[in-house]
Amino acid sequence: MTAPALEVRDLGIVFDTRRGPVPAIEGVSFAMARGEVLGIVGESGAGKSLTGNALIGLLQAPGRISAGSIHLDGARIDDLPREAQRRLRGKRIGAIFQDPLTSLDPLMTIGDQLVETIRAHLPMTAAAAKQRALDLLAEVGIADPASRFGQYPHQFSGGMRQRIVIALAIAAEPEVIVADEPTTALDVSVQAQILALLRRLARDHGTAIMLVTHDMGVIAEIADRVAVIYAGRLVEIGPVAEVLHAARHPYTTGLMSLIPSLSRREERLPQIAGAMPRPGQWPGGCSFHPRCPKAGPRCALETPRPVATDAVRVACHLFSGGTAAAPAI
Ligand code: SF4
Repeated sequence: MTAPALEVRDLGIVFDTRRGPVPAIEGVSFAMARGEVLGIVGESGAGKSLTGNALIGLLQAPGRISAGSIHLDGARIDDLPREAQRRLRGKRIGAIFQDPLTSLDPLMTIGDQLVETIRAHLPMTAAAAKQRALDLLAEVGIADPASRFGQYPHQFSGGMRQRIVIALAIAAEPEVIVADEPTTALDVSVQAQILALLRRLARDHGTAIMLVTHDMGVIAEIADRVAVIYAGRLVEIGPVAEVLHAARHPYTTGLMSLIPSLSRREERLPQIAGAMPRPGQWPGGCSFHPRCPKAGPRCALETPRPVATDAVRVACHLFSGGTAAAPAI
């Protein structure tokens, strides 16, 4: 059996503070197959970007991995020295961020940036790297690449700049790409084109794409599976079709109400009242219990463990014994 492209086992991340370590991610586990798009969804502050940053070795202090492990093609990578992690980044794990300008050098032509990235990771002559750069630009949908090769980032629209960042991310044929809110800053029509491009790249190159977003609509459009994160914990993961149309976790059900097309077709679901607690303020038991319409006495006392129900894994007492009532003492 081949190893998954990427596997995260029981990941924990803490923020070091003067009062000691504060948990920001706890017990997060998932795997990604080659060519799969896994959507990671949750509210701002849930920990989805932190998880993405841990994968690409860009976790910033005071954040640090405190538990668990990350495996790329079966080999552990989270305990590698910094320099080895830096080499993996770009070559075997690509990254796409919300603002393409954070990934592009405004003072370099896009052609030079691509050639430099290609030659940093692949043993190629300058001429071969230039040809590969032109091919990549064509692949991501930049019309007439030869004439645009010598232009600077400011000469492109936001959508075109994001296409160039995607070309940079796939330049070394990475096994995994972490795309963190890659379309949030773009117009709706451009968003759809970029999502379609990512979907096609995953299929054509066998790249596993982890798509971090707060938008369930984006997940519905391109992901194969979805992982829902709430207050640092993975509360539900499964195939998109199943999770969207038969969400099990009450938080996922609430998120569904935020997809306009689904809510119009089906009966409008109630939105989730209240706000997600910040790290350090998570309540005991199930962190969602103060906001959960189905909470019972057990929910404030016991943290639910993830359990598999068919292809979906869910962490909720309603699915781990079928009741939210207080446990018998
Ligand atoms: Fe709601 Fe309880 Fe399930 Fe948490 S464990 S989601 S509070 S029913």
